[in-house]
Amino acid sequence: MKKAIITAVSELALLRYFPVEASAREALMRLLERMVATPEQLGWLTRTMIDQVGEWQGPKELRGVFCTRFSPADGIKADCSAGEFSPAALESKAMLREKSIRSLPPATIHCLKCCDQGVIDVPGQFIKWCGCSAGIKRRQKEGKYMDELEQAARKPAKAEA
Ligand SMILES: [Zn+2]
Repeated sequence: MKKAIITAVSELALLRYFPVEASAREALMRLLERMVATPEQLGWLTRTMIDQVGEWQGPKELRGVFCTRFSPADGIKADCSAGEFSPAALESKAMLREKSIRSLPPATIHCLKCCDQGVIDVPGQFIKWCGCSAGIKRRQKEGKYMDELEQAARKPAKAEA
């Protein structure tokens, strides 16, 4: 279990605002040791914190999230400030997310000239910006870089001629 706790704390370091001080992390390990009874519970807590909560909000909130699903081994219960981490709420959230992914429209190509790449290959030239919205957008973003590339590519051609 000790090893599982060390792993869990290093994974929790992904959370935004997670304390960097070694002393704080040790304190968290002791808290997990007191509160969590099994590696399975620890795994659920770590996953939920990373996937659903995303940021470190302090030990009380961590305990609150844990309490929505398990009863703490040390018997200290904390309110989960928002009921949004209850198993039922998490499940419906996951379903909603899946639904919204499924309902995304299939990718459509708007510009047949460049296939929405924003650039057209022209024989003898390096590249040509497409006049469509993808081309304008890409030119704004990468224009300078691409123009430099184009100039560099044209130089040896001139020397040959
Ligand atoms: Zn185009």
